Amino acid sequence: MNKKSVKTSTILKIIFASLSLVLLTTIVVLLSKPELLYQIQGKWLRPDQEYSTFKMIKPKGKLIEYDFSAEQDLDYEQSLMLVNQSHRLPQDFVPQMAEYKDSGVQMNVAMLDAYAKLSESVTQKTDDYLYVSSVYRTDEEQGILHAEDPDYALPAGHSEHQTGLAADVYVYEHAGMAFLESEAGKYVNQSCYDFGFIIRYPEGKEEITKIPFEPWHLRYVGLPHSKIIQQKFISFEEYIDLLEPGKFYRYQNYLITRQEISSKINLPQDLKNIVCSPDNTGHLIITGEYN
Ligand SMILES: [Zn+2]
Repeated sequence: MNKKSVKTSTILKIIFASLSLVLLTTIVVLLSKPELLYQIQGKWLRPDQEYSTFKMIKPKGKLIEYDFSAEQDLDYEQSLMLVNQSHRLPQDFVPQMAEYKDSGVQMNVAMLDAYAKLSESVTQKTDDYLYVSSVYRTDEEQGILHAEDPDYALPAGHSEHQTGLAADVYVYEHAGMAFLESEAGKYVNQSCYDFGFIIRYPEGKEEITKIPFEPWHLRYVGLPHSKIIQQKFISFEEYIDLLEPGKFYRYQNYLITRQEISSKINLPQDLKNIVCSPDNTGHLIITGEYN
């Protein structure tokens, strides 16, 4: 080999070594920063598919301070209030109620549209009609139910029926556990999550919810929270726990953050359709969509 070809092969070796190093570094960085890989996948590898990973992220760019008291481009809902044996509703809680389609049934305004869509879908898919046996209960009504049967009904202030966000549903001749024997009941238990609802007391989570499986009790939490709860197979209690205060999460095109209640909240700049809900644990959960 002459001097020149030795030199060329050395250069080739250096180039090869450098390229391998770059490739290796890229792999290590991508593995250690899954959110980066997730962004790349979402943007370039499968842009038209839903990328459904739920991940903690660090938002790009400067955060802006929203003035909550000035109601600056923010919608206020009650959809993520956690109500159970250990989380009582505040004494001054006033549910935002409205009548559902001239039916005489009162519901929290947050779930009116979602319930209409779910109910239409049940009829379309199963030829059956979804009815409600109980949606909203006042403090007094809950107290009476509890006094009649403490094993069946939670004490006043501890039932999510008092938020107007829970609905006990049934179809003709199939109420209670029998609801699951109907096509509609099966469909609702599988698909209510697509409409912003969850089976609030699922099978297998009794130790956390402290309530036996209730395939008829739907709770509205809104999208995308219902989808995340379904995909992770967690209870609503576990979901609230999962959201670390002050951190940011991404799911599909949504940004979710749970922050301490104060008049100012920090959010990335490029969000639209921002919805805030208190969670009844001293925090606000803010959900927005990226532009
Ligand atoms: Zn119920």
